[in-house]
Amino acid sequence: MPDTYLNSIDGKWVPSSSGETFRNTNPSRPDEVLGEFQRSGPEDVDVAIQAAKRAYPDWRKTPAPLRGEIIARATRMLIERKPELAEGITREMGKVLVDSGYDVQGAITSGEYMAGEGRRMFGDTVPSGLPSRMAMTVREPVGVVGIITPWNLPMLMPAWKLFPALICGNTVVVKPAEDTPMTAVRLFEILEEAGVPPGVANLVTGFGAEAGQSLVGHPDIDMISFTGSQTVGRQIAKSAGAELKHVSLEMGGKNALVVLDDADIKEAITGALWGGFSTAGQRCTASSRIVVDRKVADDVVGGLVEGISGLVVGDPTDPATNIGPLINAKQLDRVHSYTEIGLAEGAELVVGGLKLQDELDGGYFYSPTLFDHASSDMRIAQEEIFGPTITVIRVDGYDEAISVANGTRYGLSAAVYTRDTARALHAVSELEAGLVYLNAPTIGSEIHLPFGGVKDTGNGHRESGPSAIEQFTETKTIFLDYSGTLQRAHIDEPSG
Ligand code: NAD
Repeated sequence: MPDTYLNSIDGKWVPSSSGETFRNTNPSRPDEVLGEFQRSGPEDVDVAIQAAKRAYPDWRKTPAPLRGEIIARATRMLIERKPELAEGITREMGKVLVDSGYDVQGAITSGEYMAGEGRRMFGDTVPSGLPSRMAMTVREPVGVVGIITPWNLPMLMPAWKLFPALICGNTVVVKPAEDTPMTAVRLFEILEEAGVPPGVANLVTGFGAEAGQSLVGHPDIDMISFTGSQTVGRQIAKSAGAELKHVSLEMGGKNALVVLDDADIKEAITGALWGGFSTAGQRCTASSRIVVDRKVADDVVGGLVEGISGLVVGDPTDPATNIGPLINAKQLDRVHSYTEIGLAEGAELVVGGLKLQDELDGGYFYSPTLFDHASSDMRIAQEEIFGPTITVIRVDGYDEAISVANGTRYGLSAAVYTRDTARALHAVSELEAGLVYLNAPTIGSEIHLPFGGVKDTGNGHRESGPSAIEQFTETKTIFLDYSGTLQRAHIDEPSG
């Protein structure tokens, strides 16, 4: 019998009120059951939210540096347990071990940054327009925050949201992706051991349409922080927006890596392979479109083919492996359906396009896939595939490259390879993306810098770094008048 894992509500580990559970399996070997997890519904979500609501007044009043000490303790535990946590992520999510290590490291760096933020969380002090009056701003928590996360970064993503939410004095209810509940349980074990008080951070596992939707629709939730697909993000925006809840959405990307004719071709190829195929392409920032100047396109495609032939697909616990399985059978079918779509649209399938389940223990493996001679309006060049498929679009010169790069409704990340400083700087300003990389692929964010996208990738928020503090706080503006008399502010002065 597989182990059963519980929800963490109000400092206790509890089953779902219905007693129902769901199975979590290893995508490399779907026969291997990792555990049974609670299938939470509206009742469980309500209990968790009420616990968070009760815990809020005390946590809000706890000085931010003390909140930071708890986060620092949790971070030290993440550091100590990094190897075993990474191994768990690989079993649950399928990414190769080194990649799972990055996932844990992202949580560690976020914890380190946010623990320190407890002693900053700066407001502004500005001159008042009136004498004997001080004017300043302070940051205050939003309230009870619902956090909904995807499976591709099972440790980093909840931590990226949890740590800033907690340091700012919010209490939270986390609903992790149904494909990766185990990593979330591990994180919550650490939070408990680190001394996060009961009710401050609560975990409900379960499905999006059940637990997730109940969280979004609950009247006592003040804010939803969501990362996931655009389809779900739009639904959340609609329902939370109607209730005037704060909503922060981070959604997908169809990121372009542009190779101009004067680029260091070898570097661009290395970057495209890393950006396109790490985490089996299951990254929101994956370099899924390679936009190449026609003059160098044959060299770039040749280099990509050679590079792909050296990529090892297989057991993600083997250090020699580059590409592990996709997350589940549905995603495997979806990725393969895009190969069929690309072929039907007339793009040239250069390598890959194969399900590798039969060769590899029934795991959800897919061969690294390269399409060439695609046009920008094809579905494979417009829609997020979220798998190991990259699409080459050949263009004539800089202007067309930028126009193609900008020619999707997404705007998360973009990269440009060139040796021409002036063109590079023009590209940086013209690319419609929240993240722009020069001579580096579209993946690889840093925790102390804002993360997020423009256009349909998000709704104007940025995670990570100082932006995360803005996201999880309200600003209070304070006026301190010590003139001893009524002073009217400028807007109250009679004109003329
Ligand atoms: P998804 O939208 O299917 O699920 C994300 C989360 O939302 C899961 O926890 C799911 O249970 C929950 N959910 C589903 N339906 C819901 C509903 N109706 N109400 C409330 N919650 C609901 O996405 P996914 O397949 O888990 O993740 C892949 C997507 O995430 C990709 O589109 C990827 O680009 C995106 N992503 C974006 C970023 C970013 O920062 N931009 C980072 C990582 C992943």
